[in-house]
Amino acid sequence: MNKFDFFLPTQILFGEGKSSETGRVVSQYGRICMVVTTPWIPAQTEAFNRIINTIREAGVKVVLFDEACPNPTLASILKGIEIARKECIDVLLGLGGGSSMDTAKAIAVGSTHEGTPWDYLYFREAQPSSATLPVITVTTTSGTGSQVTKVSVFTNEETATKSAICHPNIFAKVGIVDPELMYSMPPYLTAVTGFDAFTHAFESYINIGSNPFVDAIALEAIEVIAKNLKTAVTDGNNKEARRKLAYADTLAGITIANVGTTLPHAMGQPISGHAPHVSHGEALALVYPEFVKFTYHSSIDKFAKVAGLFDESNKGKPKEESAAALCDIINNFLKEIGLSLTLTSLKVNAGIINDVIKDCMDFPDMYVNPAVPTKDDLKLMFQNMS
Ligand code: NAD
Repeated sequence: MNKFDFFLPTQILFGEGKSSETGRVVSQYGRICMVVTTPWIPAQTEAFNRIINTIREAGVKVVLFDEACPNPTLASILKGIEIARKECIDVLLGLGGGSSMDTAKAIAVGSTHEGTPWDYLYFREAQPSSATLPVITVTTTSGTGSQVTKVSVFTNEETATKSAICHPNIFAKVGIVDPELMYSMPPYLTAVTGFDAFTHAFESYINIGSNPFVDAIALEAIEVIAKNLKTAVTDGNNKEARRKLAYADTLAGITIANVGTTLPHAMGQPISGHAPHVSHGEALALVYPEFVKFTYHSSIDKFAKVAGLFDESNKGKPKEESAAALCDIINNFLKEIGLSLTLTSLKVNAGIINDVIKDCMDFPDMYVNPAVPTKDDLKLMFQNMS
């Protein structure tokens, strides 16, 4: 067994009703809290008001910033930073999906450092210091794992570049995972977020830098998602399926916090950068069939293992055969959850593909995939998605 590191500083509070502890948790980290959300839907109003009230009842002043946007933009984050500075915020609560949690993390950096959060992207020399404000996360989707990751993803609209801060100083202090908050997710959102969680676990598992801890956690997440996502999509009131997905999403977040994603994220993230109407999970669902076909030859054992988790009959077959079977398994899985997508169905302008490919080539995630494509390979893959 190779040497490896594993790190998870976030305390996790998991289970139905756990969001009622938000105020107690927040009050441990400050007296003025910025609650960061995207504009919420009526079905979330009661739960969000209840959570915000727990903060007030704990004696903490609440400043509500509900202008985070899906696929967060730097402009929306800068607006939040301005308010955070003016109000002397000392703790942030990211309440919502990945976009709300990531916006909170970026504001935590931007309001305590010179320049803008864009100056602290993962590849830059300047990195977030320990001055970064504490962040608490309460997730309402089961997809990004952001409640337990050291990542904040956002887009610079001027260059149409979607990138990320990735640093241990932005891990949430506490991640609250209350499956009841996910009951309001409509089927399509359940599908795209659940598939996103699957990709985190799968890509961390096949990543050339994976380790035994991450492999074990990833396989559990993959199996749980394979067995429960379709149920959660078709029957959003199924509490057991919602709980299982919230659990798997959090496990999958732990895998990306310790290893990370590969080729599909290198291909998918630039799509949402150049076509912001395409959600993160949609971009991943779009590229997955081509990625699996391209990669399975280079990671036979791991692809075969995952094929066996989806369909037991693959466990007894020769490994090459099981690994190849994952191509059809993923296609069928996407079909079952309503995510058989093409560039055309997603209304992606073909004119952006050359820029998307250029951005892919700059993405470190591509080079930790078991098979690394050339520019021509990428061109062919994107052609097959039209
Ligand atoms: P989201 O946060 O963008 O939310 C999408 C929409 O769903 C929003 O309009 C939101 O209001 C709504 N919504 C959220 N919860 C809901 C609920 N319970 N019921 C009804 N509607 C609800 O969606 P997401 O997929 O969770 O986050 C995507 C973002 O997270 C992307 O920007 C992606 O790049 C990023 N991401 C971050 C990480 C990380 O580690 N930080 C990992 C993966 C993805």
